[in-house]
Amino acid sequence: MPGLRCTSEAMIAQPFPASAWTRSKPPLLRFLDACLNEFSAETAGHVADYIPELSKADPAHFGISLATLDGHVYEVGDSRVPFTIQSMSKPFVFALALDLLGANKVESAIGVEPSGDPFNSIRLNAENHPFNPMVNAGAIACTGLIHASKGEEAFEQIRLALSRFAGRDLAFDEAVYTSESQTGDRNRAIGYLLKTNAVISDNVAGVLDVYFRQCAVLVTARDIAVMAATLANRGVNPVTGEQVLTPYAISRTLSVMTSSGMYDYAGEWIYRIGIPAKSGVGGGILAALPARLGLGSYSPKLDKHGNSLRGIKVCEALSSHYDLHMLNRSDDARNAVIADYDIGKSPSRRVRRQQERDILAAHEHAVRVIELVGVLSLSAVDYVTRRLAGQPRPQIVVFDLHRVTSTTRAGARLIAEAFEELAALDVTVVISGVRRASREWDSLREWTAELKNVRDFYLLDTAIEWAEDQIVYRYGGSIDFHETTELSEQPLLDGLDAEELTDLASICAVRTYQSGAKILSTGDPADVLFFLRSGAVHVTLPDGVRLATLTAGMAFGEMALIETTRSADVFADMAATAFEVQLKDFERFRRQHPRASERIMRNLAQLLADRLIVANTKVDILTST
Ligand code: GLN
Repeated sequence: MPGLRCTSEAMIAQPFPASAWTRSKPPLLRFLDACLNEFSAETAGHVADYIPELSKADPAHFGISLATLDGHVYEVGDSRVPFTIQSMSKPFVFALALDLLGANKVESAIGVEPSGDPFNSIRLNAENHPFNPMVNAGAIACTGLIHASKGEEAFEQIRLALSRFAGRDLAFDEAVYTSESQTGDRNRAIGYLLKTNAVISDNVAGVLDVYFRQCAVLVTARDIAVMAATLANRGVNPVTGEQVLTPYAISRTLSVMTSSGMYDYAGEWIYRIGIPAKSGVGGGILAALPARLGLGSYSPKLDKHGNSLRGIKVCEALSSHYDLHMLNRSDDARNAVIADYDIGKSPSRRVRRQQERDILAAHEHAVRVIELVGVLSLSAVDYVTRRLAGQPRPQIVVFDLHRVTSTTRAGARLIAEAFEELAALDVTVVISGVRRASREWDSLREWTAELKNVRDFYLLDTAIEWAEDQIVYRYGGSIDFHETTELSEQPLLDGLDAEELTDLASICAVRTYQSGAKILSTGDPADVLFFLRSGAVHVTLPDGVRLATLTAGMAFGEMALIETTRSADVFADMAATAFEVQLKDFERFRRQHPRASERIMRNLAQLLADRLIVANTKVDILTST
């Protein structure tokens, strides 16, 4: 099937067939179907028969399953046919031993070098230890360590661990176990060799019994896919969400799978396919691509190395078709910055008075805002720190982490180091977009807890507003919320003469609102104009998005001049007073004072234009960085 191995050029030359859109199958499922169809024709190889019971397997059986790290499982063919796990148990038992007994104990008994030998080789390394835990000698040693510590309980512990990887209770095949137990003298020989070399302490028969049982645990291609996906997901089963074993045990297991998982074919495997994998003589292949997916396949006919022939083909096709070789990767850290601006380019939504505006305009580079997205990795954070260093030094930096999905440990460490450096330079750091008591918050705090220069606000706009206030204070401005303003200070009434203002004042009522009071509601008739006399209010959309914060000297509800119902809510942020004028009175005033009316409408147009410019800049910043 040429489609499986097409190069990227071919993909461009042949656009996706239109008819494909009408088919309901997701592309990955169709890919697995195509593999199943194409590789069913492959009939070479032999079903393992050195364990007599295995020779009864149906050579026609062929199942493939792929599990994604968001917990979706694709399956085609005989993906629910049970077969014995055999050597695919080895990585899981090794990982279990690392967590159960401690890395020191396991790592001092079993090596991690590829042997270049077949799986059942009776050869130890120069220290008389097994080469690695993926060949029988290493796996038997591993089971021996668990047996020495857990005794009778050893097999049940192993079965339960395998079950947690699969996300369901796994049974075992009595007939295959008995069959291997009656014929497995080669493995017994390995066991005694390990005992004379003190790798196994005692009771070779007991250890072998557990080993034969663990190899006879029944799985399906689907189980193997989920188990592989758990390995690919730092030990978290993506279907059940359970952290099965530690990331240390999982990463070390994937390491030995990479170097030795396919026995004396391991070098070739990692060279060509580039995905950590493990095979079993029962016909299974497990492939775990870290951070991407888990694949399980079942087809009993094996090649001379004891690896399933069709399974190898499936892995080859998957790797080449989607270009998944794990060492063929790149990443552009610059994608982590989605926007980078200062308050001159995009201020907060706080409507400010002239004096504050002047201060902020003179110090527009003092507050820098960097909006980040995706995963904060070592390279992403490094890029951000260099980007920051290349510009005039701000006094306050706001990092918005709203769109950040996670932080790697390396990224978090570098963030802490960068914050420390900023503290030394007297730069205040403000974080927005991380909810307190969330997992992200905890992990951030783990690294930045002692840093005094770090503030946080959940909303980016609140963070920017806070930063602006600091700049206003630093440069001599004060924000006096209790100050009382006159109508003459209202930008909307700019240019009105004393007589016009007096007439307007005569039709205004002064009202007082308690902190938190709702002054306007969306959908209400728009029939009053408000001129805020003291205090502060904020304007929000019904879904909670804050549009503006207004302080004394500013108008709200002024859209009544244009609209008939309110399109936002207004709340008092603190005790507030307002001059209020009924729309019908205001219209009468405008008829009596045509010159004032024209000024007011011109002022309104100017205020709306200013708001539009700010809104456009915000959109522009996000689409152009
Ligand atoms: N139980 C088998 C054995 O020890 C497992 C080998 C394998 O799957 N490669 O011989």
